[in-house]
Amino acid sequence: MSFTLHGIGVSGGIAIGRAHLVSHTQLEVPHTEIEPRQVAGEQVRFDVALNKVRRELSDLAANIPHNAPAEFEAFLNVHLMILGDEMLSEAPKRMVAEQLCNAEWALKQQMEALLEQFDKIDDPYLRERKTDVLQVVERVLRALVSDATGIAAAGVPQDGSILVAHDLSPADVILFKKHRFASFVTDLGGTTSHTAIVARSLGIPSIVALHQARRLVRESDTVIVDGTHGVMIVDPDDKVLEEYRLRQHEWELDQQKLRRLTTTRAAALDGTRIELHANIELPDDVALARSNGAAGIGLFRTEFLYLNRRDLPDEDEQFEAYRRVVTEMGRLPVTIRTFDLGADKALMGAERVSANPALGLRAIRLCLAEPQMFHRQLRAIYRASAFGRVRLLVPMLSSAPELEQTLHAIDVARRSLDDDGIAYDRTVPVGGMIEVPAAALSLPMFTRKLDFVSIGTNDLIQYTLAIDRTDEAVAHLYDPLHPAVVGLVGMIIQSATRTGTPVAVCGEMAGDVHLTRLLLGLGLRQFSMHPANLLSVKQVVLKTDLEEAAASARKMLRSHDPTRMRALLEKMNAA
Ligand code: PEP
Ligand code: MG
Repeated sequence: MSFTLHGIGVSGGIAIGRAHLVSHTQLEVPHTEIEPRQVAGEQVRFDVALNKVRRELSDLAANIPHNAPAEFEAFLNVHLMILGDEMLSEAPKRMVAEQLCNAEWALKQQMEALLEQFDKIDDPYLRERKTDVLQVVERVLRALVSDATGIAAAGVPQDGSILVAHDLSPADVILFKKHRFASFVTDLGGTTSHTAIVARSLGIPSIVALHQARRLVRESDTVIVDGTHGVMIVDPDDKVLEEYRLRQHEWELDQQKLRRLTTTRAAALDGTRIELHANIELPDDVALARSNGAAGIGLFRTEFLYLNRRDLPDEDEQFEAYRRVVTEMGRLPVTIRTFDLGADKALMGAERVSANPALGLRAIRLCLAEPQMFHRQLRAIYRASAFGRVRLLVPMLSSAPELEQTLHAIDVARRSLDDDGIAYDRTVPVGGMIEVPAAALSLPMFTRKLDFVSIGTNDLIQYTLAIDRTDEAVAHLYDPLHPAVVGLVGMIIQSATRTGTPVAVCGEMAGDVHLTRLLLGLGLRQFSMHPANLLSVKQVVLKTDLEEAAASARKMLRSHDPTRMRALLEKMNAA
């Protein structure tokens, strides 16, 4: 019988194939009472299992294939760290002795207690590490019950099959590189989960958060995965199959056509040059940015380099990472944003001190409160500037004193490099992110002292509409077409353009093809987005009449009526 499941599409495209089921991760664990004389043996059994998993993970870490996702090493390190934590490596052994139970049972009890604590954590990044704990525990459980049910043990699936899993650990995902699966889907995972991050880097259609797929789908069922819309159809009838084969073919043709645009100059119909830059999180992302024809890096979110660790790197380590990006981009500009830590991006183990972290000590506020940390990063960025075209970007500016202090800190960093006789580019442009409504409404206060601005629409929307971007309960209120948002973005672009200050958009709005013409109509000429979106945005740019787009955008700005604004946008996009 045919049925459809809905989840979160994390990587676009359509795959059609046979389902291959992989480990149901919630292993059944037996509860056995043991005699006091059996305690030591049970504890040894537990240690042997831990060591086996440690060896497995270390072997994986030592043999990372060159084409593995950039995040893979960090994932393995996190798993090794979890494995070594006293809460997992020692506490279960104490429980064995105290409760006179088998090691599996003790570990499962301890895991449940830990997961309960994770549920109470507000920070979504840390909350998602719950999945890592689960995955590590399951590995140990498998070792204990000698019931290897992972991908490796599931038999080699045929090329083109669709993997259906309850959840996949990063260690499992590495095996994806060796087989040519057409797609994978999982029951668990959110848009920022490790599974989703890796899914994007694999570039095959995939869906997470399907909830019941692993339970409902049977081995070898025919399934359709529409990764663009997050839809999975199981056992489709011939008509539906034919329809999706057609869509798949069209999608592939579209992708081929898009690839031809890689080296095409990005310009509107009248020849006006539009700069399309890439957002990156890690140095390894440069390859994708380049292969999609990015004209530069418009946003390097440096804090992502260090989220999986407890401490920030020293100046040299940072310098090497920045230099690598700058060198690999050749003469193309690289916009390095200073740490945007705090809120949903805290260092591991960082204490949460604020009830409203998005309104608390975040981004430039945190950097100014930690002058040594900021100084190290500024020096590292300026040192990297000697190797290419660096632009420095400061997140979340909101007041004049903050701007003054930032410029002063930059001055101090530069002078210290001078004192040390270290070379750097003296003309590094310094820009600010406009992502707080206060900054948008007092733009000249910033543009007077800055060389460029970049609009962070993700936060600008969060702060304008008063919706926590990490809170699923208010996610439906996120609306880039809210008249207040369109009005503010238009105002920033106009105000900056009037004073001759280059202005870009680097929030998610920049990579949304439905909004490309609106942004062009509002006067935007510089976009920065996830590399995967560059070519589809370029395709729209190439077909856009800027005057028509400007006229439609003016009408939208005047209307203040969301329904009419949507109708105008549709008309603009249909032209
Ligand atoms: C933004 O806020 O739009 C932005 C680009 O920065 P981040 O998403 O890293 O906060
Ligand atoms: Mg932001």
